[in-house]
Amino acid sequence: MQDYKSGISARLQNIAGRIAQAAIVAGRDPSEVRLLAVSKTWPAESVREAAAAGQRAFGESYVQEAIDKLDTLAGLGLEWHFIGPLQSNKTRPVANAFSWVHSVDRLRIAQRLSEQRDVHLPPLQVCIQVNVSGEASKSGVTPDALPELARAVAALPRLQLRGLMTIPEATSDVAVQRARFATLRQLKDGLVASGLSLDTLSMGMSDDLDAAIAEGATIVRVGTAIFGSRA
Ligand SMILES: *Cc1c(COP(=O)(O)O)cnc(C)c1O
Repeated sequence: MQDYKSGISARLQNIAGRIAQAAIVAGRDPSEVRLLAVSKTWPAESVREAAAAGQRAFGESYVQEAIDKLDTLAGLGLEWHFIGPLQSNKTRPVANAFSWVHSVDRLRIAQRLSEQRDVHLPPLQVCIQVNVSGEASKSGVTPDALPELARAVAALPRLQLRGLMTIPEATSDVAVQRARFATLRQLKDGLVASGLSLDTLSMGMSDDLDAAIAEGATIVRVGTAIFGSRA
């Protein structure tokens, strides 16, 4: 008899293979790329299934949905990353229930997260979201405004600035995908050259993670390819 594998477990294995392949092609060690499983809109049961298959880090985008799910799954030892748009009146639960926030795009939000992070918890790990494709509809700081924001965020006491995140425009053109991700990498390199200590590039989703890994992604955020299409 063949081993039974749930859909989620089989897809996680498939993604791990895709990540390893993309890393090897790029001359990188596959262990440099972490998989963040984006469970937004999926029930706690789906997260439990992924956790049973060995997945530890999960990403959520909607505060209330996330808080309910985290409560249900407390005790599983999972690591939660907030990756969605953040309004200043919703920072408190995010500051304390999550280990990471990838979507910091203005100082006011970062200040609130820092003020509200419980002193008994380790510093909140954060990335600044950058709008690299210049679409007016996309959140994220502009590349021009990034250096000043990064210096200010790095100085906040309860946050640890780890790096940059981006969500480029959807395109199947791999050359465009790579150009956007290369821009984020160059922005991070510029900040490192200016003295900031950053180790994270959060970039790449179900459809473009291979291009992101080729350009240096250290965290890929994958939803659809693990859990299926969202309603
Ligand atoms: C939903 C989402 C993802 C996952 O996208 P998929 O295409 O489903 O893999 C990644 N990052 C962010 C910020 C998201 O909101």
